[in-house]
Amino acid sequence: MILYMNKLLPVQASVSNLTIAGTISTATHGSGIQYGTLSSYVRSITLMKLDGELKEYRLEDDEELFRCLTCCLGTFGIIISVRLQVSQLFYLELNQHALEFHKFLNAMPIYYSSSDHFRYTWYPYTNFGIAYHLTRVQPRLINYKTSIVSKVFSWFRYSLIGII
Ligand SMILES: Cc1cc2nc3c(=O)[nH]c(=O)nc-3n(C[C@H](O)[C@H](O)[C@H](O)COP(=O)(O)OP(=O)(O)OC[C@H]3O[C@@H](n4cnc5c(N)ncnc54)[C@H](O)[C@@H]3O)c2cc1C
Repeated sequence: MILYMNKLLPVQASVSNLTIAGTISTATHGSGIQYGTLSSYVRSITLMKLDGELKEYRLEDDEELFRCLTCCLGTFGIIISVRLQVSQLFYLELNQHALEFHKFLNAMPIYYSSSDHFRYTWYPYTNFGIAYHLTRVQPRLINYKTSIVSKVFSWFRYSLIGII
């Protein structure tokens, strides 16, 4: 829905089939060092408390209580609705490369602060892994026309080998 309005969730988990209430209740996070958890973008929350009363809590009324409510594993009541700060629509540009595990460990802060979102997949028992840099860019038209060679390459890479 918010995609049609050119808006996006500011952060999201690595999978998308989760609920807003569940991700807020567990302070689900994305991958960018400068972005908060999903809970940190909640501005107000309406709960059905244990006695059945509906109550709206707002960040500006009591920040300490509000921070507890937005990561409470359902212990304060049932989340009925939330007001959430969203982002303008953006695309993500992916740049990925092989990176030795020890090189990554020695310069981790440089890597995780070098792009909007950084992820490293390590292959256990090896000194090998893949670094993924994702940068937020302005939305633009994408040309989906690809050559036969790149289609074959994509099938080989994503379907046969399974590297994303
Ligand atoms: C494959 C997979 C990948 C994941 N990747 C990430 C990731 O990249 N980053 C990350 O941070 N987390 C990740 N997680 C964890 C995930 O974000 C949390 O488990 C999240 O809570 C799942 O959301 P859900 O909608 O399934 O919630 P549920 O598992 O259904 O509930 C989670 C908690 O929220 C409470 N809750 C749910 N709905 C309500 C409600 N309406 N009112 C009050 N409380 C409620 C429940 O009581 C429970 O305590 C991942 C989980 C999986 C399974």
